[in-house]
This record gives sequence, structure tokens and C-alpha cells, in this order.
Amino acid sequence: MFGTNGVRGIVGETITASFARRMGQAVGTWMEGDTVLLGRDARDSGPALAQAFAEGAMSTGKTVIDLGLCPTPAVQWASMSRGHVAAVVTASHNPPEYNGIKIIRAGVETTPDEEDALEACYHQGDFASGTGSLQTEDVLDAYLAAITDHVDARAIRAATLRVVVDAGGGAGCVVVPRWLASVGVDVVPISCEPDGAFSDRPSEPSEANAAACMAAIRQYNADLGVLLDGDGDRAVFVDENGDYIWGDRALALAALHELPRHENRLACTAVSSSTCVEDAVTSAGGELVWTPVGSPVVAREMARRGAPFGGEDNGGMMFARHMIGKDGLMTTAFMVELLATTGKSMSTLLDDVPRYALSKHKVRVQDPDRAMAAAEQQASQDDGVVRVDTIDGLKAYYEGGWVLIRPSGTEPVVRVQAEAADEGSAQALARKFVKAITGL
Ligand code: MG
Repeated sequence: MFGTNGVRGIVGETITASFARRMGQAVGTWMEGDTVLLGRDARDSGPALAQAFAEGAMSTGKTVIDLGLCPTPAVQWASMSRGHVAAVVTASHNPPEYNGIKIIRAGVETTPDEEDALEACYHQGDFASGTGSLQTEDVLDAYLAAITDHVDARAIRAATLRVVVDAGGGAGCVVVPRWLASVGVDVVPISCEPDGAFSDRPSEPSEANAAACMAAIRQYNADLGVLLDGDGDRAVFVDENGDYIWGDRALALAALHELPRHENRLACTAVSSSTCVEDAVTSAGGELVWTPVGSPVVAREMARRGAPFGGEDNGGMMFARHMIGKDGLMTTAFMVELLATTGKSMSTLLDDVPRYALSKHKVRVQDPDRAMAAAEQQASQDDGVVRVDTIDGLKAYYEGGWVLIRPSGTEPVVRVQAEAADEGSAQALARKFVKAITGL
């Protein structure tokens, strides 16, 4: 049932009111403690699914605290600060017909072992029974205050910045414009009303979906643009010229400025991230730990090593001094503070982050195992390969570049991603492995 980020599926197919009610029963039976927090993103199917989950959890004798429409990080933060289990009805960046449920335990995403136990409980159906109750509460004021505590609000106020916020109609719209305005930032809002149909743009914050944000930056002469995903845990940025900033580069920039605040300068990111992240961590006097792909994995590695910073190339960043969980608003607050305290523009700040060229391919294959074997053979025969690691898939390092080959978990596809100093070299590296895999 559980994928990398909770349970997700199409509403009316796998994700129904009876599924949500049973999940509520399973969570209520499985969890310790007597209170469960419940939040949801802006999807149209959210209120009914949240209600069904609440009924299920109450039938096991639990107190349900309904937080209403809330970004995932705000729910996670509330779960962390109060030590309660929390459930979020969300499908993050997926299209509007999707929804799902994500479970958090005392601020930490459930582990695969916990998910197995929960799933066994769900299928077994031997649920606890009792008389629960439902309360509603607003945690957003407290959450916003916590974000303000992490930044130099006075410097931000003094900098008189203008920021374009494109929340895509997702849950981030209830916190990001409001927080920025509270620290004196002039906000140009785009799609900042909840819109369960994501009618303005697809919910994935990407360059392809950033046209309105880019245009608004130029039109309003803004200092920064930010795009959020559907549940507000990821943020990607556009600089003051209206140029899209690759997630790797934003991650590297944040690492460069976050790590020097800490004694322990470890940072964690997935093997798919650009070498520019490693360069930034090194120049901040730190050390980078590579992990398998997936933010819960990065989060667990951060927790295990006491790393203050981590994230992925898709706009998901984690500042441990706030919490070990992706937070689009915390990420935005950090970037805005960086503009304010350095007095530099975003494009100038990014000059400190080395540039690499990337070549990405999605290769359809009959048999992913055979494709991976072919990739391994290619790497072992290639004299240019200086090192191979198998943290996730196969990553072959060359002088000045690397290739990562990873099978998809959900479809007969192998992803080939190569990075090098220039476009031509990146393409040549990728092509070598695409050829080996397809036998062409
Ligand atoms: Mg998300």
C-alpha cells in the first residue's frame, strides 16, 4: 500500500472514503498515545477523505484534532512539537484526481517497518474500539512564529524585498504569502487561493510550469520568485532576471550558507543530485553524505548522523534546526533572509555555485534487471571509469563527470542521468550507457 511518500492513488479507485475510514481505524489501533492530528491539502476530495479518516480514528477511541487545510510541513511541525501522531490527506504534486494519506510520528515520517506494521493492521481488521472525539484547531499562527524564529526578521524587513509567490492553488497558499507579508516583504501572489483542480498550472513546481512566475518577476521587477508544490513541502525559485534556478543549484546555495552556522557540517543528499551540491558543501567546510533517492531516506540519514542540512534536487530542503522534514516556507524564508543579509541579488549569489551540464534519459526496457546488468558490464569494461558506487542503482564516476543508472520502481523504465562540465561530454557519457542498455 505504502509508496515512498505514504499511500497514494486515484480518488474513487483505490482512494475512497471507506479506505480513509479503515486507515483511521488502523492508525488508531496501531499508534501509541491518545491523540492524532489531521491535516489536508487543497484537493477537492480532501474534506470527505479527512472526515472519513477522523471517523475511523474516533471509533478506536482516539481524540482527533482537525487542523483543516494545512501544508504538510505545518502538520509535521505540529506533530513534532506536540509529540503526536499526525495524518495528512495529500497527494503532494500529483494531478488533481489523485489523493492519499501520509502518516507522521512525532514529527518524523513513518519508516518502512512502521508502514508494514500499519498495513498488516489495516488488512487484519482487528481494530480497537472506543468513544473518541473531534476537535478543531488552528496551528498556523504557531507554525508561522516558529519560522520567524529561524530568520533575521529585522534584516528582511529593512531590505524591502519584492517576491512573486506561485502556490499553484496548493496548500502553501495559506502560509507563504502571509508569512512573507508579516516580515515586510511585498508579495506578488499568483494562484494563491486554494484550488483543488490546480487549474492555473500543474502542481509540480518545475521550469515548464514557471512561465507565469517568470513573467511576473519581469513585470513587477521582483527580487525573487518561488513556486510551491501541492502540499507546500517543496519550493523552487526563479531569480530576479526571471531565470529558473535548477533545484540542485538552489540546494547547493542553501548548503553553502547554512552549514557554516553549525559545528557539524554534514549535509545529506540523494545520489541523483548534482556535483555542485558536493562542491558547495566542501567549500562551506563540510562533508556530503550521498543517500538513495527519496526524501524520507535523506531525512533518516540526517537524523542518524546529526546532519544540520539535507535535501533533494526537486526543491525539497530540510533544515534540522527547524525540523527534519521538507518545508517550502522554511526554504523560502531562508532564501529571502539570504538576499536581505548579504544585500546581493539571487543571480549574484548563485555565481558561487559551480555549473555543470546534465543529460537525462528515460529508457523503456523489457527487463530492468537485464538492463542494469548491461550497465554494470559497460562500467566494468570502461577504462574511463574511476569509481563505481551502488548506493542507489549504479553510479559510475569519470574524471570530471558521472553517470547514474537507476531502474524505476513503478514502470519498466531505466533512468540514465549524466553530468559533466559541458553539454557535449554529459551527452556522450549518457549515450554510452543508453546504448549499452538498449543494445543499440
Ligand atoms: Mg510535496
